[in-house]
Amino acid sequence: MLSNSLIELDRAHLVHPVASYRGHERMGVRVLRSAKGATVTDDAGRTLVDGFAGLWCVNAGYGHDSIVEAAARQMRELPYATGYFGLGSEPAIRLAAALAERAPGDLNHVYFTLGGSDAVDTTVRLIRNFQTVRGQPGKDQFISLEQGYHGSSTVGAGLTALPAFHANFGLPFDWQHKIPSHYAYRNPAGSDPDAIIAASLAALRAKVEAVGGPGRVAAFYAEPIQGSGGVLVPPRGWMKAMRDLCADLDILFVADEVITGFGRTGPLFACTEDEVVPDLMTTAKGLTSGYVPMGAVFLSDRVYDTIADGAGEAAVGHGYTYSAHPVSAAVGLEVLRLYEDGLLANGRRAGERLMAGLRDLADHPLVGDVRGRGLLAAVELVVDKARKTPLPAAADPARRIFDRAWSNGLVIRAFGNGVLGYAPPLCCTDAEIDAIVERTRRILDQTL
Ligand code: PLP
Repeated sequence: MLSNSLIELDRAHLVHPVASYRGHERMGVRVLRSAKGATVTDDAGRTLVDGFAGLWCVNAGYGHDSIVEAAARQMRELPYATGYFGLGSEPAIRLAAALAERAPGDLNHVYFTLGGSDAVDTTVRLIRNFQTVRGQPGKDQFISLEQGYHGSSTVGAGLTALPAFHANFGLPFDWQHKIPSHYAYRNPAGSDPDAIIAASLAALRAKVEAVGGPGRVAAFYAEPIQGSGGVLVPPRGWMKAMRDLCADLDILFVADEVITGFGRTGPLFACTEDEVVPDLMTTAKGLTSGYVPMGAVFLSDRVYDTIADGAGEAAVGHGYTYSAHPVSAAVGLEVLRLYEDGLLANGRRAGERLMAGLRDLADHPLVGDVRGRGLLAAVELVVDKARKTPLPAAADPARRIFDRAWSNGLVIRAFGNGVLGYAPPLCCTDAEIDAIVERTRRILDQTL
């Protein structure tokens, strides 16, 4: 049992990410003790199906001894090596090469970070450098999508379009702009895919003009599926159309695959399903399956070569002490081996089962929309299906749904507007997928 003193220590000293500090002090912490496969066990000994893979990151599932051994071996041999001064480590070099080989198109150059936020930060810095050294320093405006999430760094949080990340933080910066999301369920253009794509293209063109034309715009950012905005899946062809427009306008296209990468939607990278080769791509989470922190930025030949030629013999001044950490890289190599040794295939099977099961919930009176791809899905709840009326915010649906799920043995993401998010590990068994669906129906049947 969780001792009161641990709750008190947490309350007094541990500042939690993206939390109401006062609300958390009142509620107290829930401590997880252990995990195996697709399940986690809490302090009270209750075992739950983790329908969210931690924070959409433990794609391989918990408790892989081979990952633990890869990390331990690397820690014994060489726990740290800087990438500064021309130094390096074998796992980092091998992981960069393995990722480049599997990445779309000519994304042949990999810059390792500690996670997704600093991966996004890295792209902003490198894009400014790229535009400057190619003689376009005026291309300094950045565009992203409403409902988009691009991390919590000072710069990335401005590209993020979630209000909590801006309020009282002085964000976004005046060079960070948004266009409406493709959000099919609530799109003013309607639900027809062609109309949604046309509306997004028109919005991007209009925004580019509004900020001074293509000569002012450095880059456009999009997630292949918007995760933290509520798992918003664009129509097929949306990514390609936006990517092609960016190419026409000489604007760099950045695919933020921090959630969608590493089998979450089926393939290793969601871009490949959309037949898109971005100029830059950000990844993290599933890269190491959450066992240790790591992110990776992929750069096209053109972006890398332009920056390299621009600097000549001078240093490109961007780096972290823990860039290309050898232990994280060793974990990344082993995780990649597991993905290709059956996990991706299992994830694809499990994803079809999850989507079919969740779609069966569509007739429930509270379910307005079911959407997703692979093992990334959402169920949007409404109080009135015809009017698509969201659950009242005053009823704090996120907290209530999360608690109800927990007491039914299920961990899911409950968004504030009554959207249930799913991102279970790729190792899920059929029985675990069925449990996620059945428990969701039970949660819906209990009064919200
Ligand atoms: N980009 C996207 C699309 C994300 O979903 C996230 C995190 O959820 C990030 C960036 C930031 O990653 P991190 O939390 O590892 O800093």
